[in-house]
Amino acid sequence: MAVSTKLEPEYEELRRTVAEFARAEIAPVIGGYYEREEFPYPIVTRMGELGLFGLPLPEEVGGQGGDYFAFCLALEELARVDSSVAVTLEAAVGLGAMPIWRFGSDAQKREWLPDLCAGRSLAAFGLTEPGGGSDAGALATTARLESDEWVLNGTKAFITNSGTELSAVAIVMAVTGHRDDGRNEISAFLVPTGLPGFTVSRKYSKVGWSASDTRELAFADCRVPAGNLLGTRGKGYRQALETLDEGRIAVSAIAVGLAQGCIDECLVYVGERETFGRRIGEYQAVQFKLADMATRTHAARLTWYHAASKLLAGEPFKKEAAMAKLAASDAAMINAREATQIFGGYGYMNESPVGRFYRDAKILEIGEGTSEVLRLLVARELGLPASTSGV
Ligand SMILES: Cc1cc2nc3c(=O)[nH]c(=O)nc-3n(C[C@H](O)[C@H](O)[C@H](O)COP(=O)(O)OP(=O)(O)OC[C@H]3O[C@@H](n4cnc5c(N)ncnc54)[C@H](O)[C@@H]3O)c2cc1C
Repeated sequence: MAVSTKLEPEYEELRRTVAEFARAEIAPVIGGYYEREEFPYPIVTRMGELGLFGLPLPEEVGGQGGDYFAFCLALEELARVDSSVAVTLEAAVGLGAMPIWRFGSDAQKREWLPDLCAGRSLAAFGLTEPGGGSDAGALATTARLESDEWVLNGTKAFITNSGTELSAVAIVMAVTGHRDDGRNEISAFLVPTGLPGFTVSRKYSKVGWSASDTRELAFADCRVPAGNLLGTRGKGYRQALETLDEGRIAVSAIAVGLAQGCIDECLVYVGERETFGRRIGEYQAVQFKLADMATRTHAARLTWYHAASKLLAGEPFKKEAAMAKLAASDAAMINAREATQIFGGYGYMNESPVGRFYRDAKILEIGEGTSEVLRLLVARELGLPASTSGV
């Protein structure tokens, strides 16, 4: 029996390639995009040229033939430098292309995946609504079938990648009826950008992830062809939950990348900054912070590696993915706080990378399942009785 966390050569090569790209082409310019709250088109185009948008998808649909672990490795290396570009990739692939690949018809795959895999277009995932995200079954958006068209009405909130010049399609979850037990029957639809009745609002101004695109979407008698139903009618909720389970591993990788990025920046800074005639890296208080940051990051990385290894082995991974996101978002939050402390006043400046990391860390405890919802999932997987949570 062999136990190893050493990356196989092809994974290591991918990791190194993405790390070099992020250092050489993202780090020097991303601060400007972030301050201007501008989507970084040239960087996203380069990510497409590098094949990052097709990493976990098979070659027959234009992908790179890699796997979800490779995809997450790339996300970790991107987030080590910047989380906005990492989440742009995560949402486009993990929440956009993957559900089309997994649940779509051959015709839908042929129509959408080649451009999505090449990064020539982006897909969005529209589940959350202004009325709530955690209670994902309680949607208010509806779709009713009229002859050979579905008519959508409703609003979606906080949807990533939905309003860029590359945004081509949104996967929209809507209520299509009621099940025998009285609960909503939810189905998923592929809604191309630009359809009449589909309005993409202006970008939100966010605390962090400021160079990513997040918008509200509105549907007013928006008609989509019957063939744009994704998978089977009534399976939309299950599809969304499966997509989010997998996506939580990807968000964990982003969180670990951010936690590692904090360490990278601090290791340089503590060797340069002097107080009381010494470099601050000589002070034990600072060294202990960095030792704890590294330990926390290492532990969190192992949780997402473990969840991903179960996913690749075809084993159940819901609990491990939830645990990974809890551990990794915690590591990211604490490391961002400690890194900002180590940088002192400069850490509080928007222009410092750790200031950006500080702003980017918080969303990791909210998106794709809040920490509270994840704890409920873990508790349920432990066999605890249903709590008063309603989840
Ligand atoms: C930048 C950004 C990008 C996003 N991108 C997307 C996207 O691309 N697609 C998409 O569909 N959504 C997206 N989201 C939405 C995100 O997934 C939701 O914000 C998240 O799921 C939480 O939902 P909510 O904001 O409605 O919070 P709520 O569900 O209103 O929760 C509010 C608080 O109550 C707590 N809470 C809720 N229910 C329970 C319970 N049963 N027990 C204990 N505590 C509970 C929550 O943990 C939270 O602390 C994005 C959000 C942001 C901020």
